[in-house]
Amino acid sequence: MSTPQIRIKALEDVLNRAPRFVDPPSQKISEYFGANVFGEDAMRMFLTEDAWYAVRQAMHHGNRIDRKLADQVASGMKEWAATKGATHYTHWFQPLTGLSAEKHDAFFEPIGGGRSIERFDGSMLVQQEPDASSFPSGGIRNTFEARGYTAWDPGSPAFVIGRTLCIPTIFISYTGEALDYKMPLLRAIRAIDEAATLVAQYFDKDVAKVTCTLGWEQEYFLIDKALFFARPDIMMTGRALFGHIPAKGQQLEDHYFGSIPDRARAFMREFETEALMLGIPVKTRHNEVAPNQFECAPVFEELNLAVDHNVLLMDVMEKVAQRHDFRVLLHEKPYAGVNGSGKHNNWSLATNTGVNLLKPAKTPKENIRFLTFFVNTIAAIHANADVLRASIASAGNDHRLGANEAPPAIISAFIGDYLGGLLDGLEKNLKGAMTPDRKTELKLDIGRIPPVMLDNTDRNRTSPFAFTGNKFEFRAVGSSANCAGPMTVLNTIVAAQLRAFRKEVDALIEKGTKKDEAILRVIRDLIVRSKAIRFEGNGYGDEWVKEAEKRGLSNIKDTPRALDVWSRKETVKLFDELGVLSPIETEARHEIELHSYTLKIQIESRVVGDLAQNHVVPVAIAYQNRLIENVRGLREVLGSEKAKKATATQIRLIEEMSDHVSAVVSLVEEMIEARKKANALEEPRAKAIAYCDQVKPFLERIRYHADKLELLVDDELWPLPKMRELLFTR
Ligand code: ADP
Ligand code: MG
Repeated sequence: MSTPQIRIKALEDVLNRAPRFVDPPSQKISEYFGANVFGEDAMRMFLTEDAWYAVRQAMHHGNRIDRKLADQVASGMKEWAATKGATHYTHWFQPLTGLSAEKHDAFFEPIGGGRSIERFDGSMLVQQEPDASSFPSGGIRNTFEARGYTAWDPGSPAFVIGRTLCIPTIFISYTGEALDYKMPLLRAIRAIDEAATLVAQYFDKDVAKVTCTLGWEQEYFLIDKALFFARPDIMMTGRALFGHIPAKGQQLEDHYFGSIPDRARAFMREFETEALMLGIPVKTRHNEVAPNQFECAPVFEELNLAVDHNVLLMDVMEKVAQRHDFRVLLHEKPYAGVNGSGKHNNWSLATNTGVNLLKPAKTPKENIRFLTFFVNTIAAIHANADVLRASIASAGNDHRLGANEAPPAIISAFIGDYLGGLLDGLEKNLKGAMTPDRKTELKLDIGRIPPVMLDNTDRNRTSPFAFTGNKFEFRAVGSSANCAGPMTVLNTIVAAQLRAFRKEVDALIEKGTKKDEAILRVIRDLIVRSKAIRFEGNGYGDEWVKEAEKRGLSNIKDTPRALDVWSRKETVKLFDELGVLSPIETEARHEIELHSYTLKIQIESRVVGDLAQNHVVPVAIAYQNRLIENVRGLREVLGSEKAKKATATQIRLIEEMSDHVSAVVSLVEEMIEARKKANALEEPRAKAIAYCDQVKPFLERIRYHADKLELLVDDELWPLPKMRELLFTR
């Protein structure tokens, strides 16, 4: 089949498809929710009393499980998994490639004499050595030293997918360094638990533990499989590297909250059923702003579990999509000209006594507690905006942040007019000496925070980090990201800030200041110090870029430069002191991310070169030849004098196409040269910067000419499905 035919065939395929609805196992979700998870109920049924207790202690208090009990847990887990039809097991982990990884082993084990048993013991549960030399390690582990190992994380329950028992694990090098996303996340969770508990105890001695909560919102695009395969760029890079912007994009905003198309709805229903059976509490689904863009969000959960659930969901979505002849695009910007996709991270802190520390309360005392955590979070964002920026940096997200659409690359915090006014008031009121009278008044003032401070009109969608009533919403996270990255950073910087806060308050108390006054004084200091990070206006506007510069806020537009913060002394020290990343791990991560950036741009650049040379240029020339034939024919028929007028348009077209064709060809050559130069660089940062500054700009420049050719060439000859077809055919 020639390429134009592939395009036509793909479109026909799409038009002929029908939705494929699959009924869930029951009308009541509660009857199958968590059915494929080795959760509390399953454990109680399949574990001995001792083993069950040990797992619970490990889950809730991080206690170790001894070998004998691990054997019992393994055996119970295997029995349970067998009832779900599992024949294999795998240690499921999250290496720094951003995907989940698994290596399947059968329970089956031959024991000689033609006989076999099903075996799974504690050692197989607790630790495995995947041949991990090909996972990125940023120089921590020499590639010939393949011994990294995975270790069971009892904090996240095992589950069955298909015929495989999946055991959530962390992935560490032989020398103990983290090679994955989970290990640093668990350390950050511990750091914030320690720091926040100590601060929460100012207000309630009974607080023994603080947990982070995360509710993510996953945005994504659906594309029909036939179109996906007819677009090598989308297939290889997850985004369209060519394609003229269609006449209609999202201007009419008719997709947002519109009715979900049937085929998409059938897909959602099935993947939600699978997700629910895996214990992922998915709750909302709706269309997003761009055509064929959707969102899925669960009820929030404890952070570690929420992270696993998001990784798992991305995986399940992909698998189920294929059954519906779709592909899921998790890329941050699959199509120029319409909205990109993010993954909002709703984050809060909860105590073991059942209090959401970021929820404004009724009484003044409780609201000093609220303000403490609220203001400390803002102060942490202010002091560490650059690390937070780095935590969301990726080649894909560069197309969202501060590029074609907001949120901007400038980190700021939106808290709404009410709380903004409250903080301003505190700043003024607490300025002078605090007489006992004024203190009471002040407390009463704080006591009146209305529960609904932010209605929908007050919600600022343009802010990268917004307070939304009882939680912060980190909106700048990219749709393909592992939440663990940004959540590790957020929790670490807030933990560091809370530690500092506790120290300052304690010092004041020691000098004889009353506790409440000491707390309020430090809060006021923090309000003053972190003022620059608060921004209530339009984050998409040019004025904000200027204003932010005046305020001294960073505006780091690309990934390689955003990552620089990882080599700053303060950053290395901060993550080391909180026990989240050792200096070696920080350096390794920095290197891995630079490398991953380079690879992504390299692949995009190769695909652009290939498609431009092998698809766009030949088709343009073929059409040009047709026009030339036509001109020749007209001359023959009309005679050269008369043909002058009749061939004028064709000749103009031929010339115009020639210009674009030679531009494409010479730009591709220049790009290859730039790539060669970049490839010759050894140092990861220099290489990433070369790719960013010297190679990447060619992508846009080549696309410009190719897209012009798309407009000129006969539609019948054009090989790649066009943007309007990608966005609107269903
Ligand atoms: P919306 O923003 O669409 O109006 P909500 O405010 O109810 O909806 O919640 C949005 C997201 O925030 C949901 O995914 C929800 O699970 C999450 N969320 C709500 N409360 C918390 C919390 N305390 N901690 C973390 N996430 C939360
Ligand atoms: Mg949101």
